[in-house]
Amino acid sequence: MSRIKFLGTSGGRFVLINQLRKTGGIWLSIDNTNLLIDPGPGTLTRCHASRPKLNPRDLDAIILTHKHLDHSNDVNLMIEAMTNGGWDKKGALFAPSDALDKDPVVLHHFRDKVDKIVKLEEKGEYNIGNISFKTPVKHIHGVETYGLNISGKNNTISVISDTKYFKGLENFYKGDILILNLVMREGKDHILHLDVSDAEKIISANKPKLCIITHFGMTMVKAKPWEIAEMLSKKTGVKVVAASDGMQVNLDEYQK
Ligand SMILES: [Zn+2]
Repeated sequence: MSRIKFLGTSGGRFVLINQLRKTGGIWLSIDNTNLLIDPGPGTLTRCHASRPKLNPRDLDAIILTHKHLDHSNDVNLMIEAMTNGGWDKKGALFAPSDALDKDPVVLHHFRDKVDKIVKLEEKGEYNIGNISFKTPVKHIHGVETYGLNISGKNNTISVISDTKYFKGLENFYKGDILILNLVMREGKDHILHLDVSDAEKIISANKPKLCIITHFGMTMVKAKPWEIAEMLSKKTGVKVVAASDGMQVNLDEYQK
């Protein structure tokens, strides 16, 4: 079965620090290829706590959309786990260059343990196992950040990682399933994140088969994400669900 598992759904520093929501990122299994996106604090614990357990040694790649702590904290640990403590050199790490070069979050000590390290770039196209993915546009987020368009044999998934809204953003992310990092209830210009009105605009324009909102900051947690999802569903006519920690989505139900 191809599936998405939300190991964590927290976004923003206060939800992270207080662990009001977990911060384990997203585990994606498509066509027998396993990807871990944005391993924040506690990812390994979340893998072991999953039922059924997720074995990090099954991973084919780890992707960092950017180097902020809630997206990258466990990257070294997860390389260690993916490669069986470094004994089985395998897998790939994809990350923006500023996560690797300037003030890097990936320790040099771990870099030899993976088969390859690939720097993400705007308009980049990449392959791993049975899937391919693209990073269509650089986001506005303070550090180098990309969203993802992931394609399997029967599925297309867009992941809009952290960004401030910019004109035309929605045009870059046309996957059947849209995962949207919705940090704020209501936007403030200096906070480089999407808010609910941005989400409505994007979902209305793209009409995915399913939109999953996740990566909630404090104002979203307080606003009850499931109620926001229901409101967005009503306004856009699209099935919108709020991710919860441990939630799994069966991708076979959303084939192209
Ligand atoms: Zn961020």
